[in-house]
Amino acid sequence: MTHFTGKVAVVTGAASGIGRALAVELARRGARLAICDVDLSGLAETEELVRTLGAEVRADRLDVSERESVLAYADAVAEHFGVVHLVVNNAGIAFTGSVEQMSFKDIERVMDVDFWGVVNGTKAFLPHLVASGDGHVVNVSSVFGLFSVPSQSAYNAAKFAVRGFTEALRQEMINDRRPVKVTCVHPGGIRTNIVRNGAEVDGVDHDDLASSFDRLARTSPAKAADVILAGVEKDKARVLIGADARVLDAF
Ligand code: NAD
Repeated sequence: MTHFTGKVAVVTGAASGIGRALAVELARRGARLAICDVDLSGLAETEELVRTLGAEVRADRLDVSERESVLAYADAVAEHFGVVHLVVNNAGIAFTGSVEQMSFKDIERVMDVDFWGVVNGTKAFLPHLVASGDGHVVNVSSVFGLFSVPSQSAYNAAKFAVRGFTEALRQEMINDRRPVKVTCVHPGGIRTNIVRNGAEVDGVDHDDLASSFDRLARTSPAKAADVILAGVEKDKARVLIGADARVLDAF
């Protein structure tokens, strides 16, 4: 028996990186899983991995920035499993560029996925988590939700917002004696695709950025998943993983 045996866990952005590692680790620990992503081929690979581990799983295409879809998804997952215990709002995109380089649309897209995606997932699942009597919301911010760096203003803004939203929610749940725990996760330097996919602005040397990040990103997604789940078990307010001041040198 583990903390997660028989629990129903939702992981957004489960097609790769930290989300996939979390799905795999939750499956190993006996959770039942709802996984979603916009990347259907990556999602199918994650689905196969967790099925091989014997987990019950449903996999759905979901864009976390589409509010109505997220609301419908939360109801569908709750109906499918009868209960929801854990939601990890993990899906995210990066975007690298100065304020002068980025368009309003670029900034909006980062906020839509990285901030509003977390709000949509939290609000949509909260009634189901309360109904379970034993819920937990895990929102993934970043080390860039703790400090700002040049060329990451939109990402910084979204991740600071996630942190503020999540910390306030935690206090509300405690003060109002609601049966939902809340954890904010701040990764930094985990070996995933996010930086490669993120540098889309002309004038940013994509290969340079990715290669310096590769050198600095020393923590594996599996290790990150382990640390996050240990934080969930211990009901930590904040989990820092792989946070390394050297990451700053990459920007
Ligand atoms: P990743 O790119 O491997 O995974 C992100 C996943 O989110 C992908 O599968 C992607 O398809 C999915 N996604 C993107 N937009 C989506 C949308 N609109 N709806 C649904 N899914 C969507 O990167 P990762 O590092 O595993 O990122 C996971 C989380 O960790 C993100 O929130 C990211 O900001 C955060 N994070 C990662 C690091 C790091 O060092 N890797 C550092 C700080 C924060």
